[in-house]
Amino acid sequence: MRRILRTPLGKKARVWLWRHARAVLSAPRPVAVANARWASRRPLDRRYREEVRHALKQMAGGVERCMYCEDSAGHAIEHFWPRSRFPERAFCWENLLLTCDRCNNHHKRTQFPLSLQGEPLLVDPTAEEPGMHLELRPREGLMLAREGSAKGETTIGVLGLNRYELRKGRKIAWTGLQALVERYGRFKEQDRAEEAALCAGTLTGHPFPAVLEVLLRTAERADAEQYVDPECLAVLRSHGSDLRALLARGLSSQAAPVSPARPL
Ligand SMILES: [Zn+2]
Repeated sequence: MRRILRTPLGKKARVWLWRHARAVLSAPRPVAVANARWASRRPLDRRYREEVRHALKQMAGGVERCMYCEDSAGHAIEHFWPRSRFPERAFCWENLLLTCDRCNNHHKRTQFPLSLQGEPLLVDPTAEEPGMHLELRPREGLMLAREGSAKGETTIGVLGLNRYELRKGRKIAWTGLQALVERYGRFKEQDRAEEAALCAGTLTGHPFPAVLEVLLRTAERADAEQYVDPECLAVLRSHGSDLRALLARGLSSQAAPVSPARPL
C-alpha cells in the first residue's frame, strides 16, 4: 500500500454526490436510501458513478491497481467507512476508494474496527502515509506493522495483506523490477531513448508499485549492495533522477511522497 493523493472531483459529479448525501441525511431509513441510491440504474446516476470511478482510477495511477493490495485491477468503488454502518458518508468523495473485488468483498466487507476514541483502525491511503503504520519487506514478500501500531496490525488482518498470492507477487516483483531497471540501463547506455521510455512504462505498469518505491529508496542507502543486484544498483545510481522523473509521471498524476523509515 502506498500513499495516494486525492485529486478534486469535477463540479457536476460533486453536486451529484451532494444531492444524494442530502437525501440520505434527511431519510427516515438512511441505510436503505443510501443502498438504493448507490445501486440506482438511472442513466444520470450511472453516468456520475462512472465519473467517480474514473477519477479514482486516475488517482490510483499506473494501470489502476487496487489501492489496498496493489496486485489486482481496481474496479470496485469502496466505501472506506462502510455505507451499511455509516450511510451519511456513502456519498462523500473523501470516503471513496478504488479496490479489487477480493479486497472489497472477500476481506474487508463491512468490517471497520474503531479505536476507543472512535478513530478508524484501518489505513486510508488517500488520507495518511501508510508507511507510518505499515512496513513492506519485498524480499520476503511480507507486509509488517510498524512497532506498536495497532492500526498497522488491524489493517493487515482485515485486508488480508499477507495472503499467499500477495506475498508471492511481491517477491516476484522485487526480482522482476530489478531486471527491468537493468534493461532500462542498457537501453540508456546504447542511446535507445524510445526503448528506454517503453521500459520505464513497463515499470510503472507493474503490479505492486510500492515495491518499486522500496527499490528506489533502498538504492539510496549506504548498504544497498546487501539488498539490490549490483547491475540494477549501478543503473539506479547513474540514471536514478531520469528514472524517478519518468516513474513519477507514470505512477501518478502527482509525485507520491516517499514513505519514511526503514525500507526493508
Ligand atoms: Zn485488492
